[in-house]
Amino acid sequence: MIRTFPNRYLTHVGTAYGGGAVGHRRTLEEVSVAPSPVPGPTVRLGHRFADELPELAVPWQAAEAPEPRLLALDEELAAELGLDTDWLRGPDGLGLLTGTVVPEGARTVAQAYSGHQFGGFSPRLGDGRALLLGELSGPDGDLRDLHLKGSGRTPFARGGDGLAAVGPMLREHVVSTAMHALGIPTTRSLAVVATGRKVQRETVLPGAVLARVASSHLRVGTVQYTRATGELDLLRRLADHAIDRHHPAARDDEAPYLGLLRSVVDVQARLVAQWMAVGFVHGVMNTDNMTLSGETIDYGPCAFMEAFDPTTVFSSIDEGGRYAYGNQPVVAEWNLARLAEALLPLLDESEERAIEIATEALGGFRTAYSAAFTDAMRRKTGLPPGLADDVLVPLVDELFPILRSGHVDWTTFFRALSSAARGDAEPVRGMVLDLRPLDDWLERWRALGPDADAMDRVNPVYVPRNHLVEEALDAATAGDLGPVERLVDVLRAPYDERPGLEAYAAPAPPDFGSYTTYCGT
Ligand code: AMP
Ligand code: MG
Repeated sequence: MIRTFPNRYLTHVGTAYGGGAVGHRRTLEEVSVAPSPVPGPTVRLGHRFADELPELAVPWQAAEAPEPRLLALDEELAAELGLDTDWLRGPDGLGLLTGTVVPEGARTVAQAYSGHQFGGFSPRLGDGRALLLGELSGPDGDLRDLHLKGSGRTPFARGGDGLAAVGPMLREHVVSTAMHALGIPTTRSLAVVATGRKVQRETVLPGAVLARVASSHLRVGTVQYTRATGELDLLRRLADHAIDRHHPAARDDEAPYLGLLRSVVDVQARLVAQWMAVGFVHGVMNTDNMTLSGETIDYGPCAFMEAFDPTTVFSSIDEGGRYAYGNQPVVAEWNLARLAEALLPLLDESEERAIEIATEALGGFRTAYSAAFTDAMRRKTGLPPGLADDVLVPLVDELFPILRSGHVDWTTFFRALSSAARGDAEPVRGMVLDLRPLDDWLERWRALGPDADAMDRVNPVYVPRNHLVEEALDAATAGDLGPVERLVDVLRAPYDERPGLEAYAAPAPPDFGSYTTYCGT
């Protein structure tokens, strides 16, 4: 059952920061950096994060990219950002996209953050191979971070080489583009540029830099890092910055920091419900990979579930299934408890009272998640908005065991279900062996008057199929960008069924075997 919350991961708010047990009071090393080089003509980058939160920002520069070559560019996103695509394709544009040419006045920084990784707290993670180039201002005045991944070692690199390979960066490009097209809040990939450097992984691979755009890169881990410094003023400034950029309505709350916590709980509950509805398995839901904005971030070992099974895990290192498909809501709630914990001093002077307040705010997660997930399932099954929960919820709940025992492909089932709404149940009947429970379910469902056209607007035909993603990335690594380009093209319009694209809609052939993804990106 994917609606329930197994109590495998306790989410209560504790006092992890009490008595300085994990207090991390080291200051970031002072780093001297050469002045920024050539100005880019069309781009103005703000530095609000670096100005307002200098304690979390280490001035830093990208490594050289000896032979930059554009591999992918989201022209639609570029236009949205007011960036000239011809310029981006030229030498200065490629310089910007690899961080080697930054506009005058930009203050490029590596950001500090902590994180619970698979449940264990790492006090100092930070951008080990990434840089915030600065913020772009949209026409609406909203800021968007322009950020690079794979741009060289920083003071947070620890043992890492600071680099990224072509395959994983294109993977983020493909999957985040698909998520955006599916209407799911996400960081975006503006471009992927091959650097001409070699990257040593299990084999030697071509290196690349991803230019990522996000409404910000503030994470649960950013708040945890700040809290661990013990600097209350910094924590307050960070919270104010987050409120201002993402949850401005909280500013007018009687208790704005509680408003912030509630808002993040709410956006994350809705985000995870959307993941569940499309069968997205994030794979590495560490607290450093959870944003305050409610955007999906960090496309490492993520993948889309095919046969419905709540225990679905793809990541090679997730041995305990902590981040399995069906656990995602529980883990999100656990992560939000860590956020609440880090915010405690801002919630009340009395720690006891602050814990009460935080616990109550966290209680909002289950309500918000259940409402969002139930609504998503209502829409997937084409049922009317006013349908009572005590009819809808049991009906939807009965579908899960049918899908699970039949190893039914999540995406194709819901798309084919609209044919059943139109009167032809054979496509979905062909997906299960045990027809009795399905027929019984279909009969009761059809009596509620499902709207087939509405279903086709919310059930995608095309999601990034694991075997196609792998095939396309292998081709790109070997120098052929065609398959990635075609895949991205298909995924940009996930709800429009197009003749000739059947191969993009089908699950992996049996000989693809079980799919494993790797974090060693
Ligand atoms: P991730 O698994 O991508 O969320 O990364 C977790 C942490 O490891 C972050 O602090 C990253 O900056 C850092 N990291 C991952 N890969 C590298 C690398 N190749 N070089 C330096 N730091 C890295
Ligand atoms: Mg990360």
